[in-house]
Order: sequence, then structure tokens, then C-alpha cells
Amino acid sequence: MGGSDAVVVGGGIGGLAAALALHRRGWRVTVLERAAELREVGAGLTLMANAVRGLDALGVGAAVRARGDAGAAGGIRTARGRWLSRVDADELTRLLGTTALGVHRATLHGILREALPAEAVHTGAEVSDVDPEAGEVRHRRHGEPVSLRADLVVGADGLHSALRARLWPGTPPPAYAGTTAWRAVVDFPEPVPAAISWGRGAEFGMVPVGDGRLYWFGAVTAPPGGHAPDELAAVRERFGSWHDPIPALLAATPPEAVLRNDIHHLATPLPSYVRGRVALLGDAAHAMTPNLGQGACQAIEDAVTLGAVCAGGAGTVPAALAAYDRQRRRRSQAVARASFRTGRFGQQLRHPAAVALRDTLLRLTPARASLRAMTRYADWQPPTAPDPRTRTRPRPGQLPEHWLRVVSAHAPGLLRDLDLDLGPTGPAPPPPVDADHGASCPVGPDHAASRPAGAGHRATRPANDPPGGGPGRPGRPIHDRPPSGPGGDRRLALVAAVAVWSTGLFCLSLVLPDRVQGCSARSRPSSRRSGSPAPPPNAPATAGPEPHAGPRAPGGASGTRRQGPATW
Ligand SMILES: Cc1cc2nc3c(=O)[nH]c(=O)nc-3n(C[C@H](O)[C@H](O)[C@H](O)COP(=O)(O)OP(=O)(O)OC[C@H]3O[C@@H](n4cnc5c(N)ncnc54)[C@H](O)[C@@H]3O)c2cc1C
Repeated sequence: MGGSDAVVVGGGIGGLAAALALHRRGWRVTVLERAAELREVGAGLTLMANAVRGLDALGVGAAVRARGDAGAAGGIRTARGRWLSRVDADELTRLLGTTALGVHRATLHGILREALPAEAVHTGAEVSDVDPEAGEVRHRRHGEPVSLRADLVVGADGLHSALRARLWPGTPPPAYAGTTAWRAVVDFPEPVPAAISWGRGAEFGMVPVGDGRLYWFGAVTAPPGGHAPDELAAVRERFGSWHDPIPALLAATPPEAVLRNDIHHLATPLPSYVRGRVALLGDAAHAMTPNLGQGACQAIEDAVTLGAVCAGGAGTVPAALAAYDRQRRRRSQAVARASFRTGRFGQQLRHPAAVALRDTLLRLTPARASLRAMTRYADWQPPTAPDPRTRTRPRPGQLPEHWLRVVSAHAPGLLRDLDLDLGPTGPAPPPPVDADHGASCPVGPDHAASRPAGAGHRATRPANDPPGGGPGRPGRPIHDRPPSGPGGDRRLALVAAVAVWSTGLFCLSLVLPDRVQGCSARSRPSSRRSGSPAPPPNAPATAGPEPHAGPRAPGGASGTRRQGPATW
């Protein structure tokens, strides 16, 4: 492939993952990071199975498994500690073929960094402008102006992306999501189940991240810009009376370990992730609230997909980027919407009646349905050759097509509002559109790699959403009302009522025999049956998703029941 040059703007998790994905496909990669030193700030991270699979495809999955903790499958409790929902992590792992992980951000960042050639990363390099047609990137390196030309430019410059602002000037800046969050990683060798606890307008979560350390976060609905002279004291005041081991955890936290962030997200989705030779990725493309623990996971999916579609090198960039946009935009924007809604239904719910209704709903939801809901976004596979057998049965968490047709006939708008998934059995997609030229473009076998899990969202999108990832009008706003305005809880109570309805429908879809759903059990992918997924297309043998033999699982040995969804 010779001279294929890529410049990646931003050396966060998304940028390094993209650099690694391209490097593994033969690209010469330069990462421009504005920080003087390359390091990840932040605390812990939950990596859902989709991200772990993506890391396998990048060849670093084994290293991350070895350093993280596999107890991050999740569960939901009340502020007093009563379990509302628990997910059996072993069952989840069996279903998805790989585990979820809790990991320190710095650990993941370090592993990605070490997998790249040392000379690839330039620190102290702040990018100020980009010419998308020429692929020219202007930046200052240690104060000196420098210009680089590349076949491909990756904008991985985070929430307040300069490239997004430059290339999509009409897009509003990230919006405050209504929540402020504290987090820290502490030494806490006692076994603690990964879990989140929901109170009124507040949430506390804890996730083991390996090496006897625990990541905790606390989030409350609050006006933006708040700061306390002693943030740890503020957390204690809010969460110190919650269930064990939260008080002990806070007592073990050094004040300087506590970080506080207001949560912002890209409330107006971008009409395209691609302009000329530039592709946006990670928070630059789809900054989302952390309620599903999917922000970095989606950045990793972006990176793996970008590497796969760009395997043909510099000559195929326009078609490759059109394929990238097509494969990534709808899915990541659907995850962002779902994440925002999870925050509204969970942490941000304040009215006692709405909270009681929510808690009851959660308690009544069958474990199997919770499990399936958890697999909904984690059920992503790195791009690979399509397997027709995987097309005939709805994925876990996906409703059968005829159910959705009935619902859409009787309750128009509901599918869209609930983001339900018509799945791969929906109508055939229109031909792909070249993001640059708006015309159908040929996409090579590698580029045409299987539609990722979210591709099935097509039938739930508005008819005027541009097919094939071409530039178009912005997607549906992620919220169309103030995050915590008056009447919000009433609306949420309504959403809860709708959720009862949809849960009923969902449960019906679970209990109905395959025959009635129009599916054959034989069409289930064999990897799901055996619990071992197909190896990722480009992962070395050692990096494949092997059974997790890594660190301590909280709650005891393998086979012990571990707990449900932990996010943030
Ligand atoms: C409280 C909280 C908890 C979260 N928990 C989870 C979780 O559990 N699981 C999960 O998957 N996600 C989680 N997320 C989301 C996750 O942190 C982000 O989605 C992810 O870090 C995005 O990575 P990124 O590389 O796109 O952006 P960033 O990590 O923001 O990296 C951007 C990089 O670009 C650099 N940069 C910026 N501008 C320029 C410029 N002009 N020139 C050069 N360099 C530049 C920055 O210095 C930075 O290094 C959480 C987020 C928050 C706020």
C-alpha cells in the first residue's frame, strides 16, 4: 500500500485506538496531541463486551483483560441497597462471548500507547485548522507553526472538538446534560460487586478495576458550573448515608483523588461524520452522557471500523469514509440517545411517585429481559465478512420484525421514541452514497464488511435521514426539552408507563417460541451457542477473545452470581 499517511488529531482513547487500527492496516500514522505529556486523566472506565471485542481486533484485548477486572457486568440497587435488577455476569459472558471489564483509564491508555511506534505520537501539538479536501493539518508544535499533509485525517479531539467546530460550523456546541459527577479510584481490596444505586435525582456506582482498586462515581442533578471547596465532603454529604460499602469507600478516598465534571453531550447529532478526507471519531463525533458506559466503547468501535474500511489504503479514502459514516453514525447516535434516556429514567428521576414506579418496574422485569436489554448495545462485532446465518434471527434485545410492524402501525412514533430496533430483517437499504459526492459509490469487500449491530436501526429513523452516511441535515436532537425543567418527572412517569407496556411486549417476545417469531433456532450463530465468538478478523492468535482467566471476580470464584449493569 506504500505511502498511506494518516494524521490523528487527539491522543485520547479514541485517537490512540484509531491510530493503532490504521497502523495495523499498514498506514503511517502521526498522532497530534496538544497536551505536553501523553497521559489519560480520569478515573475508571467500564468496557462493555463490544469494546472488549474491539480491543481484541486491535490486538490488545488480552493485555487489557489481564490488567482489568471482569466484575463489571452490573446490577441496579436502591440507595438503601435493595437489589432492583441483577444480571448474571457468567450468563452475560456466555451470551456475548466475552466479558465486560472495569479498567483504570490510564491502564487502557498506556496499553494502546505502547502498541504504537514511539515516534507516532507528537505531544505539545495543538491543531488549529484543517483543510478537508487537501488533507492539510495546521498546528503549533512547541509554539512553532507546522503544516502536515495526509491522505486521511482523523478528528479524535474530544468533546470540545476544534475540527468539529471548524468543519460543521452550524452544529451547536455540546450541551449540559443536567448532571454533575464526582469520581475517584481508590485502593479497596475488599470484594465489592459492580453495581449502580439509584436514589432521587442521584446515582452512585462502583466498579472494580483490578489490582485491588475500586472506581466509584456519584452523580446528581444540579445546575452547571458548581464547585465545592472540598469535593469529597460534598460527596459525603450527598451519599454518606447510602448503603454499604459506600460510606467505607468514601472514608478510604483521599480528597485529592476526587474529580468533578459537569456532564455535557452533543445534543444535536451531526449530519455526517465525514468531510473530504476528514473523519470524526469518539467524543468529537458523538459525545454522549455516560449513563450506558458506552462513550469510550463507541470510540473503540469507531476506531476498529475505520481501520477496517481503510484497509485499501490512500487510494480508497473517499469510498472508505462513506462506508465508515454509514456503518458508524446511526449506531453511535442511537446509543447516545439511549444513554441520555437512561439518565432521565435513572439518575435524574426525582418525583417520589415516579421513582417508586421505576423501581417497581425494574424489580418486576424478568432477569432474562434485563439480560437481553444489556446485550443490546454490547452485541457488536468488529467488521467481518457477513454470515448469512446471523441474519435470520433477531439479536438479543431486538424485537422480531412483525411485532415492530404491528406496533408502528398502532402507535406511530413509539418505536422512534423508544429507539426500538427493527433489525437486520428490515427492508433492504438503499445503495450507499459517497459522502463526498452524494452519488452511489462502489465499496470493496473490506469496506462492505458486515453491517454492525446498529445497522438495524435504519427502519426506526425518519424517512429523510440521508442513507449511506452522506451529508444531510442533523439527526433528531437527543433531547428537545431542558434536562431538568418543571414537568420533567411527569413526563418520565409517562415514559415509565410506556416502558411497562413495552416491557410486556418484550417479555412476550421472549416467551413466544421461535416458531411463532418466524425464526429458526438453527439460524443462531454457532458461536453464541458455544459461548466462544468467532475470532476477530485481524487479531493475532494470542489476542483472540479467550475465556477470561484474569483477575479476581468480585463475589468469588467463577460461577458465583455477579451483579448487573454498572456504567460510568
Ligand atoms: C464521568 C464520565 C464517566 C465516563 N465513563 C465511561 C465508561 O465507564 N465507559 C465508557 O465507555 N465511556 C465512559 N465515559 C466516556 C468516555 O470518557 C469518552 O467517551 C472517551 O474518553 C472519549 O475519548 P476520545 O478519545 O474521543 O476523547 P478524549 O478522551 O476527550 O480525548 C481527546 C484528546 O484530544 C486532545 N485534543 C483536544 N483538542 C486538541 C487539538 N486542537 N489538538 C490536538 N489535540 C487535541 C485532548 O487533549 C485529548 O487528549 C465517561 C465520561 C465521563 C465524563
